[in-house]
Amino acid sequence: MSRRRGREPRSFRIASTGFSRDVNRTAILRLVASAGPIARKGIAARLGLSSATVTGITKELIDQGLIREADTAPSSGGRPAVLLELVVEAATVFGAKVAPDHVVGVRTDLAAKVLERFEAPFDTTAPGAVAHLAALLDGWLDRTPDAPPLLGVGIGVAGVFDAASGQLDSPLLGWRDVPLAQVLGERLDAPVFVDNDVNTLAVWERLYGRGERFEHFLTVTIGRGVGLGIVAGGDIYRGFRGGAGEFGHVNVVEDGPLCTCGKRGCLEAVAADPALLAQAREAGLLHDGEGIERLLALAEAGEPRAVAIYDRAGAVLGRAVSGLVNVLAPERVLLSGEGTRAWTWLEPGFERGLRDHLFPAVSDVRVEVDPWDDAKWAVGAASLVLRATFNGPLDGEHNDLARARIGASDPAEVID
Ligand SMILES: [Zn+2]
Repeated sequence: MSRRRGREPRSFRIASTGFSRDVNRTAILRLVASAGPIARKGIAARLGLSSATVTGITKELIDQGLIREADTAPSSGGRPAVLLELVVEAATVFGAKVAPDHVVGVRTDLAAKVLERFEAPFDTTAPGAVAHLAALLDGWLDRTPDAPPLLGVGIGVAGVFDAASGQLDSPLLGWRDVPLAQVLGERLDAPVFVDNDVNTLAVWERLYGRGERFEHFLTVTIGRGVGLGIVAGGDIYRGFRGGAGEFGHVNVVEDGPLCTCGKRGCLEAVAADPALLAQAREAGLLHDGEGIERLLALAEAGEPRAVAIYDRAGAVLGRAVSGLVNVLAPERVLLSGEGTRAWTWLEPGFERGLRDHLFPAVSDVRVEVDPWDDAKWAVGAASLVLRATFNGPLDGEHNDLARARIGASDPAEVID
């Protein structure tokens, strides 16, 4: 149960006005958020509601400052229709990505635009690490006391999150069966949503990024590890117990280098940054203490052995991605992660490895690479809350916690 600590919860307080009205209100808000600006007539048609119901509820939402009249749409005869849009500054959400040695966080508006950015060193293996994380996030949330109300907190972590049991398993962080959402939720007085970090990026891409136009796409991350988020039929594919997407542990070399997972020859053990560093050290290119920046600088300076390391890694990645494309037939492959800084050197091998192994029916798949910013992980995590509020299933119990914050029911009842 939540700890109050004698202060108001970080939420709106609007009394419940009946279940069916809540459902209609939430449905309208979600539609305006995802399809707006939109006319009242369009809302009524899309949701199968009477125009009187739509007029009443939209008036209430406008009075509460959650939506507003935007522009007018041209119409064929008669008065032009007034369009309604979400007031993106009416509330905020918070997102954080927990890495083995640091946490990066953002506060965003309701369109996932970053308003504030936070970063702190963090040791996930220290005793009481989860409690420390809760205290760190609590401090960040309190830093802007006059910020608009908070809908919820999203957390992205490398690992497998089982939504049914609420347990997080992250070998990378040294966390096993941690009920992270529950522990953080109690401390933060806010609904907390946890997911695999690459899934959070894929959610962001789907709702606000390059995946808005695509029902089927893959988010592949490269860098410290190799990750995968699968969007199929417009939503994340999680597999049994949330375990889908362990692309980094697909075997690519029989009896190859040892992987962090304990097996040999995983994609990650051959093509992620630690593997490239090991190869560079073996080639005598790096001295003790020199890291990936140095290897990248060597490639940029034209050192042929450094260029060859990236080229080989790119080829292995491309070949592995061709397998995904052949199986899943995505419209796009969206590459992300800190490893994309080396894309100039990875790309020739990647293109070769990919195109040489694509099945003809999917051979026109396009790969897009975005300039990387570490805060994107945190924005991805924040979009978990926005998804729950505006895009998730209406009957999801946990999603209701975030929706309660925008007045769908009395938040005090929901939180306690
Ligand atoms: Zn592995």
